[in-house]
Amino acid sequence: MKKQINILWTGGLDSTYRVLELSTQDVTIQPYYLASVNPDTEREIQAIHELTEIILRRPEAKCELHPVKVVYADSIAPDEAITSAWEKLHRASHLGSQYEFIARFAAQNNLVLELGIEKDPHESTIWRCLELNGGAIVKEDYVMANCESEDMRLMFSNMRFPLPLFEMTKQDEIAKYKEWHAEEVLSKIWFCYHPVNGKPCGLCDPCKTYIEVGLGSMIPRKRLILYWLRKNFAEVFQSLRNVKHWVRDLRKKTR
Ligand SMILES: [Zn+2]
Repeated sequence: MKKQINILWTGGLDSTYRVLELSTQDVTIQPYYLASVNPDTEREIQAIHELTEIILRRPEAKCELHPVKVVYADSIAPDEAITSAWEKLHRASHLGSQYEFIARFAAQNNLVLELGIEKDPHESTIWRCLELNGGAIVKEDYVMANCESEDMRLMFSNMRFPLPLFEMTKQDEIAKYKEWHAEEVLSKIWFCYHPVNGKPCGLCDPCKTYIEVGLGSMIPRKRLILYWLRKNFAEVFQSLRNVKHWVRDLRKKTR
């Protein structure tokens, strides 16, 4: 029997990277999409369906890639101990609310879930949470939380963060997509929080990140112009503010 890997798939760059990497191996992949109240849920699910078809069509594909199982967060039973552990970790490290229902879902279904997390020590709440709570341990091809404390055990004992993705930046990932000739996959990934007419908005945080790492071609031209104007005007306003402060300081000194 093939090894089965359960993976959280959002249709974004990181989780798709991991599905693509596993697709060349003789394994069974069962993707899960955990849906919270999110304006882009439908668009993400659509992206996952499209990506599944593209990945399975690739000549390199050896895996069995099952259709994604969509689970709505409000259908997951409560678990006071996990929620309380998340609240404590969230207070200290701003751990994202999605990890609370991912932990409940994994525990209640006795699942070990892979989460595609990339190297982002400054922005990632997972990185911060691990850093503040005993760090991580490497086991085979995975990074796992050091679950010595009960809160960390409740939150992370069913989650795995695959290597080498955990140590890669978005730029590293994009280079790999290209090395694997997976441009078609890259063109179908989804990342925007606030799509406009079904297209990336160009202004939300993930859109900005994708533009800055060189994936702006996935965003409509009009939205790119809007991004550019906001970015450049922000700089102009900042420069004017700096000049104003400089003049004020100069006046103080010359009095
Ligand atoms: Zn956006």
